[in-house]
Amino acid sequence: MCGIFGIYNHKDAANITYLGLYALQHRGQESAGIVCFDMDRAYSHKQMGLVSDVFTADVLKTLKGTKAIGHVRYSTAGSSDIKNSQPLVVEYLKGYLALVHNGNLTNARLIRDRLRDAGSIFQTTTDSEVIIHLIARAQSSTILERLSSALHSVEGSYSLIFLTQNELIAVRDPYGIRPLCLGRLKNAQVVSSESCAFDLIEAEFIREIEPGEILVINENGIQSFFPFKKVQPKYCIFELIYFARPDSFMFGRTVYTIRKAFGRELAKNDNIIADMVIPIPDSGIGAAIGYSQESGIPFELGLIRNHYVGRTFIEPEPSIRHFGVKLKHNAIHDLVKGKRIVVVDDSIVRATTSKKIISMFRYYGAKEVHFRVSSPPTKYPCFYGIDTPSRKQLIASSHSVDEIKTYMQCDSLRYLSVEEMKQALGRGDYTFCDACFTGEYFIPFPMDMDIEQMELFSKETALKDLRHMIVQR
Ligand code: AMP
Repeated sequence: MCGIFGIYNHKDAANITYLGLYALQHRGQESAGIVCFDMDRAYSHKQMGLVSDVFTADVLKTLKGTKAIGHVRYSTAGSSDIKNSQPLVVEYLKGYLALVHNGNLTNARLIRDRLRDAGSIFQTTTDSEVIIHLIARAQSSTILERLSSALHSVEGSYSLIFLTQNELIAVRDPYGIRPLCLGRLKNAQVVSSESCAFDLIEAEFIREIEPGEILVINENGIQSFFPFKKVQPKYCIFELIYFARPDSFMFGRTVYTIRKAFGRELAKNDNIIADMVIPIPDSGIGAAIGYSQESGIPFELGLIRNHYVGRTFIEPEPSIRHFGVKLKHNAIHDLVKGKRIVVVDDSIVRATTSKKIISMFRYYGAKEVHFRVSSPPTKYPCFYGIDTPSRKQLIASSHSVDEIKTYMQCDSLRYLSVEEMKQALGRGDYTFCDACFTGEYFIPFPMDMDIEQMELFSKETALKDLRHMIVQR
């Protein structure tokens, strides 16, 4: 869960990267960093915190050069450590090399152990660092060959941007799990996790980098290589459902449009009679608009979100803990009093937030509360780069829809089915990874694999999860 950005051939490379990271802040709030190369020097600044806190005008002035890459990192359990923040920068046989990574390498631990046994010294506990080691050890002469050889050894999801003294290189894994796109800003080339960053810097969107593509940008222009065996793409469906910004263009679609389509599909097979449709902001807004348009039930912004609540909020004393949900969301009393409402959100994870929101609506006098979810039940954790809790904590992994309804205390509960989700995505082949809903993990996890590198789960829980899945399949 990260955002990555890169720019080649711009006199304000660091400033532009700073703006790009600003637009990608929703993809990671734990740390931010930028590396610039100028002639034979590297300039780097990274720190824990939000982009606006990490970079001041004075810091940006120190980041010299016409090419830069930047990264925002998502907070995951146990990894809040500056040493794991990116970009990673090293000086190896061929000069400086910097890397930013969005994704999760499923076999990083195995490679890491092998390299460590052979004498490699690791500076971080991230999966991304193994790529640097593999490149440095490759026996080829060109960076492209080294890179290609390194990436043939890794499995999992990776959208990557590398910076060397001469070039910027962008890569998307063969399945294209995580997004990455290419743009142009006058004579400069830009690469970003999401196109919303191009809008901010007024760059032209050129195209999405293709699954399995390595794009080399240097003084000779842009060259494209496809060194991997071609496979059917597996774009992360959860990017479209929840993670990406609605104003981004991703996997051939505008995210907002597809969220509305999920909401429409959800309404098509529903026959609820209600007075209004209310989204849980911000994540449920697109789907709620679609639901309202399809059902004809008026849309109302009946729940207001406080945008200044950080992820670091510590729950106060148990006696006043119930205020927690109101810190982030509050309902408009007069609007919901005596009304039958349909509440729409994009997903249910633990059902703790949704349960509290339902109880708040009831407290303010709503007559009926019907809960609608614009994705199928999230039953399985993601091993390809989205921070989801372990199976045990995902309510849908061990409870039926009816049981969840009882737990949440709503009058009715309906999820989008996998079939309806496919219907909303429409046209052509279905090219998505939906393992979080179906448990169909297309990149296998060997049972003896040590998956500590994922850091999303404790090792023990993760192994238990894997055994459970393998038994199930
Ligand atoms: P809950 O009601 O506690 O299950 O929380 C559901 C909310 O969590 C929904 O509004 C989702 O948009 C949001 N959500 C879904 N996936 C994630 C994730 N991986 N990280 C953080 N929030 C998420």
